[in-house]
Amino acid sequence: MSDTQDLPDRARASKPVPKPGVMDIHAYVPGKATAEGVANPIKLSANENILGVSPRAREAYAAAADLLHMYPDSRTTILRDAIASTFRLEPERLIFGCGSDEVFQLLNQAYLEPGDNIVQGEFGFAAYAIGAHACQARIRLAKEPGYRIDVDEILKVVDDRTRLIFLANPGNPTGSWIPFSEIERLHAALPPSVILVLDGAYGEFALDGRFSDGLDFARSTENVVVTHTFSKLYGLAALRLGWGYAPLAIAEAVDRIRLPFNTSIPGQLAGVAALADKDFQDRSIAHVEQWRPWLTQQLGGIGLDIVGPSATNFLLVGFPHRPGKTAADADAFLSARGLLTRRVLNYGLPDHLRITIGLEEHNRAVSDALADFMRG
Ligand SMILES: *Cc1c(COP(=O)(O)O)cnc(C)c1O
Repeated sequence: MSDTQDLPDRARASKPVPKPGVMDIHAYVPGKATAEGVANPIKLSANENILGVSPRAREAYAAAADLLHMYPDSRTTILRDAIASTFRLEPERLIFGCGSDEVFQLLNQAYLEPGDNIVQGEFGFAAYAIGAHACQARIRLAKEPGYRIDVDEILKVVDDRTRLIFLANPGNPTGSWIPFSEIERLHAALPPSVILVLDGAYGEFALDGRFSDGLDFARSTENVVVTHTFSKLYGLAALRLGWGYAPLAIAEAVDRIRLPFNTSIPGQLAGVAALADKDFQDRSIAHVEQWRPWLTQQLGGIGLDIVGPSATNFLLVGFPHRPGKTAADADAFLSARGLLTRRVLNYGLPDHLRITIGLEEHNRAVSDALADFMRG
């Protein structure tokens, strides 16, 4: 398929036709927020921070109410400086976006031509491919044996047209992780023209000493971008705030195409406050550390197959392929009890549900409900 050959057809079409690739996109499916006939369902479908938001971030957000008539600082300077000093990074190498989703999109847009490709794990996060398709690029999927990123499988699918590799570590929806030594091995085997994007959306929940989000490593490379988000640990999903640490040349390329005001004043102020609230971060991590093993054990005990070990604030749970006991049945059963989980069919995982670690009462409710479900 030559992309220029498509042009005459589009010109003669009886109505406007989107460019090639756009209609191949499976629009992003967010986690459910409602259940029919249930008043206040518990949302365990989007991996949000179950403790809510840092009280200091909430205060900073409230203070922004007096500034709503103003354009935000286009450079996101206050948050840029706060992140640079917190993580000891060069401020000019930071990229900001409307969620880390936008950072992925900007990288795709700046580096992909029609016919290029991105590489990601077969269960990789959906947002990467959406932006790549929009650039008329292809998606090459690397097998994830045992639901885990495998560096050799990634290397098998990298070719001359690969411009970016997107790798979430820990992964979503798998929850699994690989040691940083594996990522160094991957990087060493890549052509220097390929950008390795390390998506650290759940990195703060991965406490094993062999894990690293890659910020230190990225510092001295020309082709590694590390992304982080305020949507998960920091509890600011509503404010849409993400960032990336990139080689200067990449940050400068992205800066040319981004929207001028892609982070908001409330977002910038709340982001600075959330970053400084170590107590809230620690409590959030401790909560997950306490309840993730508990829920893993409970669900494992009733015969469900827990992918992992998870190093995130969620579990990926495998269900039997038996009528009445499938993931779809379990999802409906839980929904009727007001417990919203995430189906992951669109990730090629029809037999699994992704369940965010909840508060104690949520976790007990999920465990009780699934025990009833499996017995029933
Ligand atoms: C939630 C998530 C993100 C963050 O998305 P935002 O746009 O920053 O809210 C990024 N990557 C993965 C794998 C995620 O699950």
